[in-house]
Amino acid sequence: MRDFAYIYCEECKRKDLLQVTKTDREYAKSNGGLFKRVMDHGDHSLEVYIDGYGVTRRFRIHER
Ligand SMILES: [Zn+2]
Repeated sequence: MRDFAYIYCEECKRKDLLQVTKTDREYAKSNGGLFKRVMDHGDHSLEVYIDGYGVTRRFRIHER
């Protein structure tokens, strides 16, 4: 069990550390195992789906 998820953005190569809270884990448990976060990267945003263990499962990049 990790308290942080490592996020990597393929668009701008930015690496981020995201805190995974107990609430996130509980949310993930009741929503198919994943919770979502959207991060603002200036000219685009990064949408990530993280599981209850802090592992990134899916991501999507949204251009502005
Ligand atoms: Zn980015």
